[in-house]
Amino acid sequence: MLLLDPFTLYFLLMATLLLLSLLLLLIGHIYRQERSLRLWGLSGLLGVGGVLLLMARDVLSPWLGVVAANSLLFCSLAGTWLGIAEFQQRPLPWRLAGLLCGGCSLLWVLLLFHGDTGLRALLYGPIYLLFAGLALHELFRQPQHWQRGSYRLVGAIILLLMLSYTYRTYFMLQHPVHNPLHNTGLPLQQLLASLLEFAKTLGLLYLVFERMQQRLQQLAMQDALTGLHNRRAFEQQATAALQHDGHHRHALLVMDLDLFKRINDGHGHQAGDAALQHFAGLLAAQLPAGSISGRLGGEEFVALLRDTSSSQAWQVAEAIRSQLAANWIGLPDKPVFQVTTSIGLAMRQHGQQTLAALYHDADMALYDAKQRGRNQVCSSQPLVAVPALA
Ligand code: GH3
Ligand code: MG
Ligand code: MG
Repeated sequence: MLLLDPFTLYFLLMATLLLLSLLLLLIGHIYRQERSLRLWGLSGLLGVGGVLLLMARDVLSPWLGVVAANSLLFCSLAGTWLGIAEFQQRPLPWRLAGLLCGGCSLLWVLLLFHGDTGLRALLYGPIYLLFAGLALHELFRQPQHWQRGSYRLVGAIILLLMLSYTYRTYFMLQHPVHNPLHNTGLPLQQLLASLLEFAKTLGLLYLVFERMQQRLQQLAMQDALTGLHNRRAFEQQATAALQHDGHHRHALLVMDLDLFKRINDGHGHQAGDAALQHFAGLLAAQLPAGSISGRLGGEEFVALLRDTSSSQAWQVAEAIRSQLAANWIGLPDKPVFQVTTSIGLAMRQHGQQTLAALYHDADMALYDAKQRGRNQVCSSQPLVAVPALA
């Protein structure tokens, strides 16, 4: 078996981290809206640059091999922290980051003249802990993220890194060293820390991809104008609900705004959009909890009321219709107007009907409502007549 000495292994790990940082920059270049990727990529490059300078410091001037090397490392630590703030869409603490990096670099200049290598190596641990603590704090600033697996993974890796640097500091206090890279006690910690840095970079990528996936899912499933489910999402959820509670009675409402073309023609497309948003808000307020609603397209909406009786469903439909008819809608500085809706109602009684069949029945009832003069609710099955409100 080929055994590599720790120095070579460490060098190889740095090369891998360099490639990973370039990958972050490349993905950040493609997904330009995720600026955190570029910050983390840059942070990785600075970190690798700093370590390479440190490794070559025997042949470099102290300004390069000590001060510049460590300044790059401090900036790299700050970059991870700032990247997390950027990922959380929070204002970046540039000033504090600049002050900390500048302060630490200044300390290193002072230590170059008035301290020894061991003291600098010893102090690096607490500084690492400070930056990692800030990154961790930024990661878990919002309590809703505490339960998320990807956040916990990155948090756990940062904690392990902090543990490894705490061990390093403790070890150095016990065994003062001249050059930590050549000291026999520490390569293991350094290799472990490099592997953890590697894992941290992958964890950060995971964070970004998970959020991208959620956004794509949202784009694919949400109606952009009203925020309701779009046709695809409604069909998926309603089909699942019908299969899941097959023995329950469900009601389907198909709702179409009346003479909507006239609203657009008379008040403008923007007013039409406002009316659609108003109606979506009304649906959210009037539908019972657990209902699934969506915008099928244009001015046609749909709602599945779960585990309900025909009279309850009728009352909900009638409340939606009458509330819409009773409200005035308008944009600032524009004349107000009214919109009405016709609603078709169909009940699934015996647990056999598919969504398509239920929709067909409700749509026929909607057609009836339009034929009878609009602004009314019609049912596909005979119901106890409930008079329409004015
Ligand atoms: P009916 O009572 O028979 O349903 O008449 P209607 O005018 O509502 O029906 P029609 O299908 O003739 O017109 C629907 C209009 O809805 C036509 C289209 O311009 C408008 N529309 C569709 N989508 C949107 C949208 O996203 N925003 C706005 N403002 N209007 C839309
Ligand atoms: Mg219409
Ligand atoms: Mg229509």
